[in-house]
Amino acid sequence: MKAERLLYLQGGRCFYCLRKLDLSDATIEHVIPKSMGGKDAENNVVVCCRAINALFADMTPKEKIGTLIAWHGSMPCPVGYR
Ligand SMILES: [Zn+2]
Repeated sequence: MKAERLLYLQGGRCFYCLRKLDLSDATIEHVIPKSMGGKDAENNVVVCCRAINALFADMTPKEKIGTLIAWHGSMPCPVGYR
């Protein structure tokens, strides 16, 4: 699992906010957090911007999905969304 491959599969965009994401800014995010037993396998990781990675931290998948649904499918980047 490489960030470059994931970024390509995601169309060069953050998985959650869909903004264009540079490889240098791409962070690996575990959908099921490692603290909850989530693996480093490709089916459990995405690349996203630092802001959302920090926001999600150790949130459960339920909490992340809830946030995405509340924003109608994709959420704005927490940095400067207003
Ligand atoms: Zn993002």
